[in-house]
Amino acid sequence: APPTQPAAEDAPDGFVRVRGARENNLKNVDVDVPRDAIVAFTGISGSGKSSLAFGTIFAEAQRRYFESVAPYARRLIQQGNNPRVEAITGLPPAVALQQRRGTPSARSSVGTVTTLSNSLRMLFSRAGDYPEGAGILYSDSFSPNTATGACPVCHGLGTAHTVSEQSLVPDPTLSIRDGAVAAWPGAWQGKNLRDILSHLGYDVDVPWRELPKKDRDWILFTEERPVVEVTPKRDRVEKPYKGQFWSARSHVLHTLADSKSAAMRDRALSFMHSGPCPNCAGSGLKPDALAVTIDGRNIAAMNALSLTELAAALQTSGTAGPHADGSREAVADAISKDLLQRVGVLVDLGLGYLSLGRATPTLSPGEMQRLRIATQLRSGLFGVVYVLDEPSAGLHPADAEPLLEVLVRLKASGNTVFLVEHNMDLVRRADWLVDVGPRAGDDGGQVLYSGPVAGLADVQESVTRPYLLGGPTPSLPPRPADTDDDGTPPSPDDRAEGDRRAARGGLQLNGITLHNLQDLDVTVPLGVLTSVTGVSGAGKSTLLEVVSRAVDPRPRPGAADGPEEPSGPAGPAGVARQLPVAAVPGLEVVDRLVQVDQRPIGRTPRSNLATYTGLFDSVRREFAATEAARARGFTASRFSFNVAGGRCENCLGDGWVAVELLFLPGSYGPCPVCHGARFNDETLEVEYRGRNIAGVLGLSVDAASDFLTDIPAAARSLATLREVGLGYLRLGQPATELSGGEAQRIKLATELQRARRGHTLYLLDEPTTGLHPADVRLLLRQLNRLVDAGNTVVVVEHDMDVVAASDWVLDMGPSGGAAGGRVMAAGTPEDVAADAGSRTAPYLAKALA
Ligand code: ADP
Ligand code: ADP
Ligand code: ZN
Ligand code: ZN
Repeated sequence: APPTQPAAEDAPDGFVRVRGARENNLKNVDVDVPRDAIVAFTGISGSGKSSLAFGTIFAEAQRRYFESVAPYARRLIQQGNNPRVEAITGLPPAVALQQRRGTPSARSSVGTVTTLSNSLRMLFSRAGDYPEGAGILYSDSFSPNTATGACPVCHGLGTAHTVSEQSLVPDPTLSIRDGAVAAWPGAWQGKNLRDILSHLGYDVDVPWRELPKKDRDWILFTEERPVVEVTPKRDRVEKPYKGQFWSARSHVLHTLADSKSAAMRDRALSFMHSGPCPNCAGSGLKPDALAVTIDGRNIAAMNALSLTELAAALQTSGTAGPHADGSREAVADAISKDLLQRVGVLVDLGLGYLSLGRATPTLSPGEMQRLRIATQLRSGLFGVVYVLDEPSAGLHPADAEPLLEVLVRLKASGNTVFLVEHNMDLVRRADWLVDVGPRAGDDGGQVLYSGPVAGLADVQESVTRPYLLGGPTPSLPPRPADTDDDGTPPSPDDRAEGDRRAARGGLQLNGITLHNLQDLDVTVPLGVLTSVTGVSGAGKSTLLEVVSRAVDPRPRPGAADGPEEPSGPAGPAGVARQLPVAAVPGLEVVDRLVQVDQRPIGRTPRSNLATYTGLFDSVRREFAATEAARARGFTASRFSFNVAGGRCENCLGDGWVAVELLFLPGSYGPCPVCHGARFNDETLEVEYRGRNIAGVLGLSVDAASDFLTDIPAAARSLATLREVGLGYLRLGQPATELSGGEAQRIKLATELQRARRGHTLYLLDEPTTGLHPADVRLLLRQLNRLVDAGNTVVVVEHDMDVVAASDWVLDMGPSGGAAGGRVMAAGTPEDVAADAGSRTAPYLAKALA
């Protein structure tokens, strides 16, 4: 382990100097990067950018910080988090803003992550208008997340689940005997309830709607639970028994509160309306807090305003309050000035369409990161290195300029900004460039260039050079032949511009109403590649969501740990999601919907590339078939880390264990028994072609495709993974370590692996996130393959090279939020580029030129 390095003061020349970095694939890298500058790290996926910027520089800064706050923890930390580097000098403390960090809690909102809610609550507490005679409230009273503030009915959540006659009896033309009360349990229990009702004198054979209201209400809502003696009528063999009646509401509420089965609870929920809590109107607050206003608005109303509107409201409220109380005005003034400034930064970053109350799980990773960047700007930190992961993700080219300005301001307040970035327009504006490569995994890991951007022109081997500085781009590597066995004719790799495919009909979405789309008509052409463009908040993702719901109205389960089941409109109906569109002619042509999104492929480190794609199954079967396994009586399940038998029982197959540290919650170290192998020694004795099962999980996709070449199912999976540029990933890399972009490409590969003829509609939200321009071309080739096989592909995209290569473009706008939600232009890329009303047009025109 390296001794503590000289601190920044010892390196007065203004450079962070890295010596002998060997983290992951880095090849003993020496590099000097300036402080107080904006430094871009470039290179194709898997080249080692993150290993250098996050894995080495940020990790070392963090290690030093931990050492200084918790010296006794040194030994424990060194087990896991010590970057493999000989020395780093001139390194200031660092803050990392990464996109792949876990999902934030359901209770966090734009207001809480930016801490703007704190200030707004303070403003209401100190400077709000209180009703006559009311005492001043502490700012906690304005927070639904505190015991003092939370609405007692919904516990601050703001939502309530309620039942109504409609939700319990979806079809009132049915009789009770025919199942009118859908919310009742099925089978025997339901029949029992019916017999009880019959004994109580209710008519169970007339249509529900013909029963008197008084009876309907009692059956559905009564709190009484009468017990009656029931003599089964139809079946004389059955003995009389005592049965207890439960109203449909009691049954549903009871199931929701007490059932241990998630399926039962889901079923109960499907007979309820989820809506705003009637006590607090969805605000999660108590009435006394809601009675306090500023300029006539209470805090719930303020939270619901878009940030642009909030800025306007604060502007007017600051100085001329209705009360002439000098000190109170001064307080109000100071707080609202500060709020205004901070809201202004968010608006500058193109986020003016968000509201403080917006829950963070509904935000894209790009929106989330920009919120964090803006928050940092106000933290007052200086002398810090910010390490950012593709801050341009989710940004329309028109919004890249304000982002750059914010980064420049971070630098101007005395900080250093490191960007791992693929957006060449942003990279071009950096003060310094570090290009990593030349390729991915073992073929990468070298710093090809470190210096001012223009100097890259002399570095012939850089894959980045032509994309950054212009010049001919190299032709794509040939596609592995074994993936053409689906009979798909090979499509041309680089489609000539102007060589557009013609649509085969269209999906007409009439009268869309969701979020900021209001009574909108859109036609999505079928059988082609369509790009949906527009600034952040314009409504692109909303449109995709509507298309998805129109094609498959069934509710969407949470991200599963395995490949999602292919879904077709003909499947079991389930409970239909509410359709935000009036009519959809053209729907009958589509027989399958596949949404290739950036949600994690699993929520636990137990899911990984190998388990998700299914290739681990064939590997385990192969291990079970070896002589050594057969001699020991090991079956395929012996080679699973999910079940007892073959796995290490100390870590239950995780490979790591939680390390309890006083100040460092959630630290993990390798399992001391299996040292991260996840399996027990007996299992590891079995080898297939000289490698044990842990060794296979440690292989990269590239290496595995040589090693597993004799297992056809695995070989096919591996070939498609390489085709989407994921050859550098390890088979056992936990799902939780993958970026959203990587997860998305794994899903795409899994989809390509089983692609067949037919009419599938593929929806992808910004598939180029995390992709170097060279990798974008690989991705395009795959999308074109899907289209050429007869399918439809719709992508939300900001990368103008992808848009230019599409057959059709739907440009949304003109701005974000209420100022967006319209289709500004629709047509071929050439048509849209020539449209004067489109904010995308100038950027697209440049890409087409
Ligand atoms: P980039 O940021 O350029 O996409 P990375 O630095 O993430 O590349 O990855 C560089 C190489 O290191 C890849 O081959 C990748 O598979 C490997 N790698 C990344 N993270 C890990 C890890 N936690 N353990 C082992 N190898 C890793
Ligand atoms: P884009 O994909 O073009 O960035 P979105 O479709 O995400 O735009 O957003 C369009 C509008 O709808 C924005 O005003 C946004 O705040 C709003 N919106 C998006 N998702 C939600 C949601 N889950 N809840 C409430 N509003 C939403
Ligand atoms: Zn409530
Ligand atoms: Zn273990």
